[in-house]
Amino acid sequence: MKLTFWGTRGSLPTPSVPQAPTHEYGGDTTCISIEWGRDGLLVVDAGTGIRRGGLHWLREGRKNFTLLFTHAHWDHLQGFPFFAPAYVEGVSLEILSPRLPGRPPGNIIEKALYAQQEEPYFPAGFPELKARISFREVQPGEEMRFASHQDEIRVHSALTRHPGGCFAYRFDGPGQGGERSLVFATDNEPPIDPASPLLKMTRGADLLISDGQYTEAEHEKRRGWGHGTPALCLQEALTAGAKRLLVTHFDPGHADPQLQRMEETLTAAGKAKGIPATFARQNLVLDL
Ligand SMILES: [Zn+2]
Ligand SMILES: [Zn+2]
Repeated sequence: MKLTFWGTRGSLPTPSVPQAPTHEYGGDTTCISIEWGRDGLLVVDAGTGIRRGGLHWLREGRKNFTLLFTHAHWDHLQGFPFFAPAYVEGVSLEILSPRLPGRPPGNIIEKALYAQQEEPYFPAGFPELKARISFREVQPGEEMRFASHQDEIRVHSALTRHPGGCFAYRFDGPGQGGERSLVFATDNEPPIDPASPLLKMTRGADLLISDGQYTEAEHEKRRGWGHGTPALCLQEALTAGAKRLLVTHFDPGHADPQLQRMEETLTAAGKAKGIPATFARQNLVLDL
């Protein structure tokens, strides 16, 4: 499995400026892709990072896309109007939306994507998109399978702790020297309860990607906002027995120098516990 980070920033795109550089860790909001087999591709979330991803996949000549969403907060959707493949005839796009408990009936991502391209917010409305677009809801805990020729990837979901609800996803598929697994659990205030569905789903994963947006002091003031700290991510990874940790969803107020200090503290703590723990970076590509 090949994992690519197209966007790592939480909440709001954060362009790099000399007073507050962000080019090292990344300024685009959340989007990752997972590739496997001959041509398997899953795209998770459509933060602003999806813009460059879309151009890249068009250059590759791709015509079929599956977009999997964690939730409908704007930093996970706002790149979609700039996802070039959606404007191309002959492209087919399947959009998978989490069925979040307690939410009114109706596909939450379908509603949100239409709404953000309505007048007066955006000139090209959703019905003007040329791609063939279909929507489907994913139930909590549902197992999905996606095939690329003989190679298959299995995807599971679990609810995170986040206002309004959010899904984390586990991906099991062919990797370097056998089956590999990764869990993408952003927009989550890490639960440390090993009996929680998220930690059960994370059990033994080769890689956990987790939300460490806040410093300890920020988290004190923002408890219940649905984001964690790098230390909580580490505790989460250790409790779940994950083999490696990558922290993402960086705060717009944190420039590269601060993120570097936070990462050094995390890496040292991880080393003491015997687990590689670092921060994600925009454009980071990992072969699992
Ligand atoms: Zn977010
Ligand atoms: Zn969110």
